[in-house]
Amino acid sequence: ADNRIYNFSAGPSMLPVPVLERCASEMLNYKGSGMSVMEMSHRSKVYDAIIKETEAALRRVLSIPQNYRVLFLQGGATTQFAAIPMNLMRTGKADYAITGNFANNAYKEAVKFGDIHVAFSSKEGNFDRVPTQGELDIRPDADYFYICANNTIYGTEYQYDPETPAGVPLVADMSSNILSKPVDVSKYGVIYAGAQKNMGPAGVTVVIVREDLLGHYPLEKYPVMLDWKTMADKESMYNTPPTYGIYVLGLVLEWVEQMGGVKAMQELAAKRSGMLYDYLDGQDFYKAVAEKASRSHMNVTFRTGNDELDAKFAKESAAAGMSNLKGHRSVGGMRASIYNAMPVEGVEHLIDFMKKFAAENA
Ligand code: PMP
Repeated sequence: ADNRIYNFSAGPSMLPVPVLERCASEMLNYKGSGMSVMEMSHRSKVYDAIIKETEAALRRVLSIPQNYRVLFLQGGATTQFAAIPMNLMRTGKADYAITGNFANNAYKEAVKFGDIHVAFSSKEGNFDRVPTQGELDIRPDADYFYICANNTIYGTEYQYDPETPAGVPLVADMSSNILSKPVDVSKYGVIYAGAQKNMGPAGVTVVIVREDLLGHYPLEKYPVMLDWKTMADKESMYNTPPTYGIYVLGLVLEWVEQMGGVKAMQELAAKRSGMLYDYLDGQDFYKAVAEKASRSHMNVTFRTGNDELDAKFAKESAAAGMSNLKGHRSVGGMRASIYNAMPVEGVEHLIDFMKKFAAENA
């Protein structure tokens, strides 16, 4: 782990060092199989054990109820933006809360498939917050209600599980906060996430779907690859699954369990983000971007208010051993993505740098 830097990337992002070391040590010969997991048939016995254990571990870590299926898919979260309406629409109505770029991209895909109602939008405030329960205008006859649980670009996160009218399943994109805290899966119809923040390398997308929501996909006219039921029936092996990414996810889950599970991840996330927000609130050189009640524990956005200084910050922080602190172009400023694998020392290092930079440039 020598020469590693604190990588504040929004994703793909840091992975736990013990996971990377396991990958390295098992690279050439996985458990006496004589081959790398990358080289293995997905139909082999040894790979079957890997995918089964990964699913079992995910079920343990997130306490996923029996009546939910777990799918390991390809195509990123973005493919699911279309798969969601394709799988869930029955009457053709769905409601979306638009809290950022990815929620909006999901909305734009859904519009191609039905009558989509905007239940909330924070676009006017450049997505600086998520809605309160009372602000949600959800139609009682919607096929589902859609949220993006953590808005990676803007640094906002739901601090509660939104309630929906009876019979309207809640669908959540948890790409950037899955495994960062306990979640009551039973409150959701579908939870899905791209892996490349808290779960492993890019290439695996996890879909957790309540069983009774399967089976309404018009397979006769839509592509088989996006049918969740086909994938569930074939245990994610209708075709070749993203084998190596699933293996790494299994290692990450083992690490999460050793660390104390998602409760421990939540405490660490509260500590890391709390240190940053406390510092931001106690000075006036930098301004935090997100509204207080909506602040993300995974992506902390802030700015100096001066574009040139922001650019200087990005440059000098890189020279000080921290990468990817430049904010997304649609927000500007800075963004520190502090996922599960970011050590507390990385955040201490960042705050020390922020203090020094403020003193030099105030
Ligand atoms: N949703 C969220 C919350 C994201 O942060 C991202 C970007 N990583 C996406 C969706 C899009 O994911 P992907 O690049 O895997 O399609």
